[in-house]
Amino acid sequence: MSSPTAANSTAPLALELCALSKTFKLGGDMLRKSRTLTAVNNVSLRVPRGQVMGLVGESGCGKSTLAKILLGLTPPSAGDVLINGKAIANANQKALARHIQPIFQDPYSSLNPRQRIDQIVGLPLRIHAIGTAKEQAAKVDEMLELVGLPKRAARQYPGQMSGGQRQRVAIARALIMRPDLVICDEPTSALDVSVQAQILNLLLDLKDEFGLTYLFISHDLAVVEHLADRLAVMYLGQIVEEGTREQIFTAPRHPYTQALLASALTPEPGLGVPDIGLGAGQPDPTRPPTGCAFHPRCPIAQPQCSQQPPKLTNLVQGASQGTTQPNQPRVACHFA
Ligand code: SF4
Repeated sequence: MSSPTAANSTAPLALELCALSKTFKLGGDMLRKSRTLTAVNNVSLRVPRGQVMGLVGESGCGKSTLAKILLGLTPPSAGDVLINGKAIANANQKALARHIQPIFQDPYSSLNPRQRIDQIVGLPLRIHAIGTAKEQAAKVDEMLELVGLPKRAARQYPGQMSGGQRQRVAIARALIMRPDLVICDEPTSALDVSVQAQILNLLLDLKDEFGLTYLFISHDLAVVEHLADRLAVMYLGQIVEEGTREQIFTAPRHPYTQALLASALTPEPGLGVPDIGLGAGQPDPTRPPTGCAFHPRCPIAQPQCSQQPPKLTNLVQGASQGTTQPNQPRVACHFA
């Protein structure tokens, strides 16, 4: 198994999010006004090529909406996404799929139960007309071997496999086109604990083998600590802290990050994130608190916090987000 690489500020960027936002209009009829939900709020983030960026936060914080924007499944309301330095705003989904692929949480629902495994894994090659049928079959065999599945798996159906084997199939399908960036959306949270470590180690090995970059979305901090180079902590649609794994795990600055780490959550598959010990629950995202969105739950909130929203600031440079010091931690708190 390989270990996470050291954070490298000089590496070219695989992914850059520039002031990305996504809002949804909810409800509204003759009697009631519609409400606006800001699922992603002015998020700027840089992910160097070959690294793993962990994205953590409670359920409903906007992580999965962010993933959907990156995969072209929903357009952003504002801001830009750059992959390898190129904006993807006008790219169609087929073109995007050459560069970016997802691995989802649930290998049971993400695989077509009526297709054989070789058909499932080879589908992206057929869609993009890459190689002859013989070359495609050879690539499928090679990919199945790389993810640790026996040759006979090619003739099986998803229903004949265990959860861990199905997730290996999903990984093979995601990587067969050699994408630049992989969005891993809770890829182990539906698996038995005994299988989780095997899948995480496989993902790390394949990252090194293919030079991949991962955006790894999870609410399980133990998982993220195992493989992330950098971490971004999300709360109510905003990044509240970002830094290297060491910075976040050894010296978290934001009170929300501190609460997440103190709770050391490892929820059971299928369950929501339990109480993280902050007293009040998450606010209604259609009525976000004024000032710092975290202030109703913050143990060190001051009067200023309910009035003035803190900027995500590079602590060492004292500069605002999106500046050129990616190895320095950024924190959105007046009193970090
Ligand atoms: Fe807490 Fe205030 Fe910092 Fe927000 S700005 S995290 S409320 S101390």
